[in-house]
Amino acid sequence: MENIHPIFDRMESRADKERLLGHRGAVVWFTGLSGSGKSTLAIALERRLSARGILCRILDGDNVRCGINAGLGFSGEDRRENIRRVAEVCRLFVDTGVVVLACFVSPTRELRQLAAGIVGPEDFCEVYVATPLAECERRDVKGLYARARRGEIRDFTGISAPFEEPESPALRLDTSGRTVDECVVRILRVLLPALDMKQEAEQQQ
Ligand code: ADP
Repeated sequence: MENIHPIFDRMESRADKERLLGHRGAVVWFTGLSGSGKSTLAIALERRLSARGILCRILDGDNVRCGINAGLGFSGEDRRENIRRVAEVCRLFVDTGVVVLACFVSPTRELRQLAAGIVGPEDFCEVYVATPLAECERRDVKGLYARARRGEIRDFTGISAPFEEPESPALRLDTSGRTVDECVVRILRVLLPALDMKQEAEQQQ
């Protein structure tokens, strides 16, 4: 049995990948209500990070549910499995030195703890996009709030299902009254030091 993973010690390590890329891998986990701004911020952040030579990958509910998680529904069990698989995929990217921008409502502490546990808390940067419900509903980007109010969508977070606020996110960000750029600058302030390999090396000395 001890020889069950014979190739792992011959594969390039995470540190090898990070040296190649010149930055650390990490997960920025955006949590918040539908329409709070998770995807918009991830897209803008990806551009800013790419411009600095930082390799990113956006994961969101839509691209994941059409592919790896096609077949999962919205029962409690399926929502948990959705997040578990997403977190495992995040872990693979982090082990490749990539910065994952993960956009999932992930409305309960249990779900976010599950994700953080799989990724590893030291690589997990939780950004709570704390846009108030009234503003998300006013935006109603996908028309989902109107449908939820009409009773056409059951268990809709914020309307007929709870959102548990994160207790100690790396950043709490209310996007109302702020431009996307202003929000991205705030995220970069928290994130960039965590991606810096030099700082990491200095800390270990
Ligand atoms: P989510 O991914 O959380 O469901 P989206 O990013 O799809 O949310 O939608 C957010 C909407 O809010 C977009 O239409 C976006 O243009 C708008 N918006 C206005 N101001 C901001 C801001 N500062 N940050 C992010 N989104 C904003």
